[in-house]
Amino acid sequence: MKPIIFLNPVFKQMLWGGNQLRSSFGYDIPGDDTGECWAVSAHPNGDCTVKEGIYEGMPLSQLWVKHPELFGNPKTDRFPLLVKIIDARDDLSIQVHPDDTYAGEHENGSLGKTECWYILDCPEGATLVAGHNAGTRQELAEMIHQGRWSELIREIPVKKGDFIQINPGTVHAIKGGMMILETQQNSDITYRVYDYGRLTDGKPRQLHVEQSIDVITVPALSAKDSVKEAAYLPENTMNELISCDYYRVWKLEVAGGFSFEQEYPFLIMSVTDGEGTVNGKDVKKGDHFILPKGFGEVDLQGKMQLIVSTAN
Ligand code: ZN
Repeated sequence: MKPIIFLNPVFKQMLWGGNQLRSSFGYDIPGDDTGECWAVSAHPNGDCTVKEGIYEGMPLSQLWVKHPELFGNPKTDRFPLLVKIIDARDDLSIQVHPDDTYAGEHENGSLGKTECWYILDCPEGATLVAGHNAGTRQELAEMIHQGRWSELIREIPVKKGDFIQINPGTVHAIKGGMMILETQQNSDITYRVYDYGRLTDGKPRQLHVEQSIDVITVPALSAKDSVKEAAYLPENTMNELISCDYYRVWKLEVAGGFSFEQEYPFLIMSVTDGEGTVNGKDVKKGDHFILPKGFGEVDLQGKMQLIVSTAN
């Protein structure tokens, strides 16, 4: 019988962070400026440890190396995904990520970053930044160099339960008031395009203007192709939200009971609302766990919402 691998999250205090990871998710956060919960991560900047059982205390990065059989004997040298919950009290800076090729050449062999967001909560009338309005790379460079931000940056309306895929090269930013579950490649390479002219300790934060102009996709994907409604999907079904080169993500609403066979190399499960059991073990909002290769039949009971993912 393969174990369920529960993980201890790592918290990150951020200028723009808040306290909803405590008030809404019940986590023991380090301060009222906690912006990120790295819930399933083997990244050197935040390596989650196993919470209980025979692997208790082992960092996920080590588990990946020492027990590849739990993950279907993967060919990649590091755990490929990172799942975070983000609490943005204030707007985040506007940023863009490189792809694997650009990051490999310019960032010491790091991976690029593709990410996607499930909006757990946001205010009425919320917007976020996804895409831009430049028609050509030359126009993009001019708008950036001339600081024509309101012309350049595209804000799109969103609501609770929306899902957004952010491919490398997509200008993006989360705005204040939002809580998001992010599934991403295991990478931390971010180029900051614009920071609303804000000062930190009297100084603006560093921008990465030339790298941004290099990597931003021109023209951007249309607004309507960027956001998908996922608030109300069939219960007791694995509703696929995205499948791309790096990951596959589903939303699962358990109502009563739902069973399925764990047929993937591994499955990451994040309980984002409600409570219940997994193969008889109690789980609740804020719990994150990995079902290893060969786990077999998964039996979920209760009333709960989960975001589920695996690597592609
Ligand atoms: Zn990002």
